[in-house]
Amino acid sequence: MRDSVLIIDLNDYTYEIQSRPDLFEKWIGGTGVAVQLLREHMDPKADPLGEENVIVFATGPFTPAYPLASKTVAMFKSPLTGNLGESHAGGRTATSIANAGYGAIVIKGASEKPVYLVIENEKVHFRDGRVLWGIEDSLIVGRIIAENESGRGIRTMMRIGGAGEKLVRYACVTTETYRHFGRLGLGAVFGSKRIKALIVRGRGKFLPSDPKRFREIYDEIYRTAIASDAMKKYHLLGTAENVIPLNELNSLPTRNLTSAKFEKAEEISGEALAEHNLGRRIACSHCPIACIHLAALRIPYENEPYFYKTIMVSYDYELIYALGSMLGVGSREGLLRLIHRVECYGLDAMSTGVCLAWATEALKRGILTRDHTIVELSFGDVDGYLKAIDYIYEQPNEFYRNLAMGVDHASDVYGGKDFALSFGGNEMPGYHTGHAAHIGFATGLRHSHLDSAGYSLDQKVTELTPQEAVDRLVAEECWRQVLSSLVVCFFARGVYKVDLISRAFEPLGVEVTEDDLVRTGEEIYREKLKLKLEMGFKPEDMRIPGRIFEIQSLRGKLDEDFIREAMNYYVRKVREMI
Ligand code: SF4
Repeated sequence: MRDSVLIIDLNDYTYEIQSRPDLFEKWIGGTGVAVQLLREHMDPKADPLGEENVIVFATGPFTPAYPLASKTVAMFKSPLTGNLGESHAGGRTATSIANAGYGAIVIKGASEKPVYLVIENEKVHFRDGRVLWGIEDSLIVGRIIAENESGRGIRTMMRIGGAGEKLVRYACVTTETYRHFGRLGLGAVFGSKRIKALIVRGRGKFLPSDPKRFREIYDEIYRTAIASDAMKKYHLLGTAENVIPLNELNSLPTRNLTSAKFEKAEEISGEALAEHNLGRRIACSHCPIACIHLAALRIPYENEPYFYKTIMVSYDYELIYALGSMLGVGSREGLLRLIHRVECYGLDAMSTGVCLAWATEALKRGILTRDHTIVELSFGDVDGYLKAIDYIYEQPNEFYRNLAMGVDHASDVYGGKDFALSFGGNEMPGYHTGHAAHIGFATGLRHSHLDSAGYSLDQKVTELTPQEAVDRLVAEECWRQVLSSLVVCFFARGVYKVDLISRAFEPLGVEVTEDDLVRTGEEIYREKLKLKLEMGFKPEDMRIPGRIFEIQSLRGKLDEDFIREAMNYYVRKVREMI
């Protein structure tokens, strides 16, 4: 297994490579290894925006060997929630890190001046980034670096836009233009360390210890992936396919979750976008599914009739929810313009949409005034939102400085807590399916729908007690620690079943039983939970936004007692587990 860890210290611009078979043998890779490295290198009480915060990028043992092992885990202390930050991205990042020879990269300290880092096999170059600092558009940053650095086609390029420099707590890191370490503010951590970009290129080769057996397993994974539901579903329309079904299930958060049904859902659905706007599909490296859908957006030049520039904008379900239905935006062109603006600044689309939806309602209710928002905000008004996104980046007044710290913080300052839709400080994902979805957001260690897929549980199982719901969600999250340690795309979770994973290790010269895998998943979950608690997470203080109890969902109106009981049980369970 690949067991090299590259440790970069920005305080004195040094680096070293350590061989850590102990880590990779016990903790697989990805999330499992990242938790341990973060614990080794960071004081859990570190200031998330201080030099003592640490960033870990970790890949898994199946990269670059098998299809769909296409993701990288980033782990850090989140400036948005104040505790564990974990974000996954695809693109070419995992393959490039693996080909450069590393299982993980650790970045410590903070640079005095802006830099961009280039990792090339066993070398690290600290390039002067001053000329790039201040460029607010992450797409332009990418273009400039692409022209100045070699390795086109094999390198990965992670970078921040203006939002990361300005320490917006939900700034993201963009990789290969259309993929993101989106959630929990990695972009702000880059900004605080004055890293504008991180490029990795390598020319390593993967050689299985048993090539014949490797070929057989490879073919099995490939064939299963091609025949899977994920392939059918996500290749054609991408995750945007979920818009219409979730709307029909009364589960699509709309206008700051004042409804879970959007009358213009058809307009911004995956079907409509594919029919009218789809420009092309692309894939993360080594993925046959290619779920990434790019729309062609035509933008007219000012004062130049009949002249346009055409931009490719990547869209998916979460973006359509956050910048579409959540803001009452039912025009495809308006939605794509909002997505593009968020992409340029390098903002997390989900957090941005939820913050703006809260601000719109707070303005309507008189909690905020135009003195705060500067611009009129009303549901459906794209131009107002475009301006407000500019202000989140520019932070021209105290209100936008507060909004740039997340909806939890802004509602602490101004009120409107009941309709501030965040869990554990992270803005809510786009699923109002029932109790399990919201319990999952509250209990998931990333406060993400991907932690434990409560939205799926709501759709599959109708009768669950609060305790059963928590037990099912935690069990799912434990298993997902294996997938995110491997690090395979969650869309391939139906392909990478436990027996296949165990067999897929064989040609790599590693023996892992199915029981070992399940046990390791549970251990990683416990380790992650412990670290999150050490960083300051208090599950007993979890705030559940009152709004979720007011609006009909797939499971009708939600019962506050049910969720309270589930949370009390979860708190007891957590204490028993560690
Ligand atoms: S299914 Fe989509 S997100 Fe997953 S690896 Fe393939 S292209 Fe990337």
